[in-house]
Amino acid sequence: MATRYIPTIGLEVHVQLKTRSKMFCGCPVEYGAEPNSHTCPVCLGYPGALPVMNETALRMTALTGLMLNCKVAEICKFDRKNYFYPDMPKNYQISQYDQPICDGGGVPLHDLAYPKDAQKNILEPGKVVRLTRIHLEEDVAKSTHFENSTGIDFNRAGTPLMEIVSEPDINSPEEAFAYLTALQQILIYGGVSDADMEKGQMRCDCNVSVRPEGATELGMKIEIKNMNTISGVRRALAFEIERQIEAVSKGISLAQETRRWDDTLGQTSLMRIKESAHDYRYFPEPDLLPVDTRVFMEDVRKQRPELPAEKRERFVKNYGVTDYDAAVLASDRALADYFEAAARTSAKPKTLANWILNDLLSALSESAQTISECKVSALELGELLAIIDAGSINTRQGKEVFAEMLATGKSAAAIVEEKGLKQESDLGAIEALCQNAIDAHPKAVEEYRAGKMASINFLKGQVMKLSQGKANPALVGDILVRLLG
Ligand code: ZN
Ligand code: MN
Repeated sequence: MATRYIPTIGLEVHVQLKTRSKMFCGCPVEYGAEPNSHTCPVCLGYPGALPVMNETALRMTALTGLMLNCKVAEICKFDRKNYFYPDMPKNYQISQYDQPICDGGGVPLHDLAYPKDAQKNILEPGKVVRLTRIHLEEDVAKSTHFENSTGIDFNRAGTPLMEIVSEPDINSPEEAFAYLTALQQILIYGGVSDADMEKGQMRCDCNVSVRPEGATELGMKIEIKNMNTISGVRRALAFEIERQIEAVSKGISLAQETRRWDDTLGQTSLMRIKESAHDYRYFPEPDLLPVDTRVFMEDVRKQRPELPAEKRERFVKNYGVTDYDAAVLASDRALADYFEAAARTSAKPKTLANWILNDLLSALSESAQTISECKVSALELGELLAIIDAGSINTRQGKEVFAEMLATGKSAAAIVEEKGLKQESDLGAIEALCQNAIDAHPKAVEEYRAGKMASINFLKGQVMKLSQGKANPALVGDILVRLLG
């Protein structure tokens, strides 16, 4: 019988914090600015320049720790991690070694965080991937390789960077996907980062090994560096796991190496062999004092937002939406806020959720817009639903009005008025139309009176036609029954 292999995966995620200025100097943090336009002696690494701590970055990392259930250290300190690389001219990175700001914690993997095609087949529902630690450091400059040269942009150098290290708790590419998705949601919820992987605001290194089922010792750990999409992480891990299983099952021993992922080719390739563990010769950063987090923790605790899992539960309880709907709504903080702004005053929050999840989201995806770019505010959508609910227009007309609202940004009331959509609820007028229909279709009347109740639908249709769709259908039904009775 073929041996089954168990993959073991641990992820190191670097996240750029959303501070206005850099970690140890006053230069602005701005994505997409002219290269080397946001620099100074500190972030260029000039000898003798002194770092000054950015307290906002410390607070944001502590907040991340609270959101992820970590233990936030009362005292943490910074160290120099020494190595040479052209994107780091001072030859050391200020990081944290033995006294990081956060310890432990975990990321809960909820069902919708998994890739869509894997949501029906979740091996460990409710799994929590434990964290080893979170530390704070400075980002390095960004190298861009041209044909015959390399350009270095120091705008990124000194950007506050959180490194979130997981325990090797992840056992499949799908779990890695769910971990990154869930983590990203929480970071965005807390406003600590936009965590946009395409912009390099969240980057991931994967450590992966395989071992035969039943073996206690882990297989050779291989690192895949610098992943910049969540789906890429899934594919790279799937490739790498298969590659390792094939080698191991043939008796080939794997070397400890670092590999890169080629998204176009869909494969990993060797970057470098790790001959020995790096010795970074860490030592305490002499230019920075240790940090006492107790000074700001009370403040930070007040900033802790309601997290996706808590929001999901509350939406189900307060608004009676399904677990699934609540999960989709809570997956995006802006979407959740939108729903809640309208739900607070809505008589039918469940109907509202349906409109948001079906009509609104599909319209937004068609026009490639985000919820914050949407022309229809939550309150305006609420108004439309109230108009439908009052019977002034029917649902079909409501959809037309909604499309118009999205296109023009006009209010529902204005569009209903403009298009003359308002349903005729004037009893006299409807009664006259009903009488017309009865007079014009004696056969249907006869059938109805003979007991064929469905004939009334035919007459109802005639009245709707006569009113050009404006008559209130419920009212038409009532009047017909009365006139025929
Ligand atoms: Zn600077
Ligand atoms: Mn790092």
